[in-house]
Amino acid sequence: NNNNRLLVVTSRLPVTVEWSNRNKPKITLSSGGLVPAIFYLKNKFPVYWFGSLGNCGLWDKEKQDILQHKLETEFGFIPVFSSIPDYDLCQSFSNSVLWPLFHYLLLHVEGERSFRWEAWEAYKRVNMDFVKVIMQHYETGDFIWIHDFQLLLLPKMIRERCPNASIGFFLHTPFPSSEVYRMLPNRRELMEGMLGSDLIGFHSYDYARHFLSVCTRLLGLNVRPNAVDNQTSQVSIGIFPLGIDTTLFSKALETRTVKERIQQLKSQFKDKKIIIGVDRLDYIKGIPHKLLAIECFLDTWPEWIGHCVFIQVAIPSISASGDYYQFRCEMYQLVGRLNGKFSSLDYVPIHFLNQMISFEDLCALYSVGDVAMITSLRDGMNLVSYEYIYCQYNNHGVLILSELTGAAHSLPGAILCNPWNTEEVAECIHKSLSMSEQERKWKHQKLYRFVISHTCISWGDNFVSDWFQTIAEKRQME
Ligand code: UDP
Repeated sequence: NNNNRLLVVTSRLPVTVEWSNRNKPKITLSSGGLVPAIFYLKNKFPVYWFGSLGNCGLWDKEKQDILQHKLETEFGFIPVFSSIPDYDLCQSFSNSVLWPLFHYLLLHVEGERSFRWEAWEAYKRVNMDFVKVIMQHYETGDFIWIHDFQLLLLPKMIRERCPNASIGFFLHTPFPSSEVYRMLPNRRELMEGMLGSDLIGFHSYDYARHFLSVCTRLLGLNVRPNAVDNQTSQVSIGIFPLGIDTTLFSKALETRTVKERIQQLKSQFKDKKIIIGVDRLDYIKGIPHKLLAIECFLDTWPEWIGHCVFIQVAIPSISASGDYYQFRCEMYQLVGRLNGKFSSLDYVPIHFLNQMISFEDLCALYSVGDVAMITSLRDGMNLVSYEYIYCQYNNHGVLILSELTGAAHSLPGAILCNPWNTEEVAECIHKSLSMSEQERKWKHQKLYRFVISHTCISWGDNFVSDWFQTIAEKRQME
């Protein structure tokens, strides 16, 4: 297999670009997400990575050419440029229709429709922009690995041009129940788009099950637990729960900066239990639900007032639309109310940071948290829970985890809760804070073993080897 090239396709390339002077862009590689998994695969195959640069159309053609050359020669990255209006409308379709619906937030009409046909047309055109660039580079024998909900049409579009291409697809979000999915006005085209793949991967068995029900109920296709018969072709379905790059964290935890930061935080909050939360500021993360549960906890067990602090990092979302502005204001109000109610002159219960924090601070925070609370209303996977468990090697912290996350399927050693049941979540906080060291250790070890054995490296490796096997079997049948 050594001559196979891997073409990875994501909506965004994992870089940020800054222009200090007109002809010299500064390109910074992002560290998290898929990067370690894909870079590891570079040891095995030549890898080319296709993706947009975000709001890239803002740059003129000359700048695009400079970037294109630099990205390809230095990183093996191939940028895909769309027009500004197409890019914006496509974002709106992805972020205001697909993202909420895939997380069980139903399409709504409130003065404005969330589903607009012109946004859908732009989504198609942007997918087509990707096809054009990929086709310029495609060679027979290449493996094309497409990622996520922004590119659902790409597998079919490529299949129509190259019937024998090897196409893999991975969905990083949940796939919703068929009764929710069927609300999408363009439900059929999106399904047919995905079914252009040879292998489709999901984080959990439930997502795959929902996908298969849509295949039978909406498309009338025959399915088996791990495959769909799509007219003339067969599409394999696989479960590949994503993990984290543990070496990134183990290295950071060894640095002086992180060790010093841990000591600072420990002395700042000495005598107090620390409960942490790290989420993007997105309504799927259930941050208000978490705050209400904290209020219920402090109301029910007032002896904890003054003896525990909640540190919530709410990372600003990239898409700062009107909805998010409103949402942020509601959260500020809630935090203000709780702090007003439970603070004293020398004590504030909730530390709410609406900002990115440095990787060193993040590692330190993960290490000092006695409890981590993840109360997502839906979450494809949730890697914060993995990162916390990994950084708690010495402290054996307790993880409170929403049962509506993909991670809950992999981390049954956590205290699972339904984020909508405020009293239950409050009880979970009480239980976590009162747990014996022995039980904490026992629970933590179980989780830790899972986190170190299911990394993003093994995830990428497993997907690719299953995919290669699928293709080999297909070739044999032909
Ligand atoms: N994270 C970050 N900046 C911060 C805090 C956290 O980039 O200030 C990272 C965190 O380490 C984690 C990611 O954001 O890897 C969030 O991933 P997760 O799967 O939990 O949720 P998502 O944001 O993808 O929905």
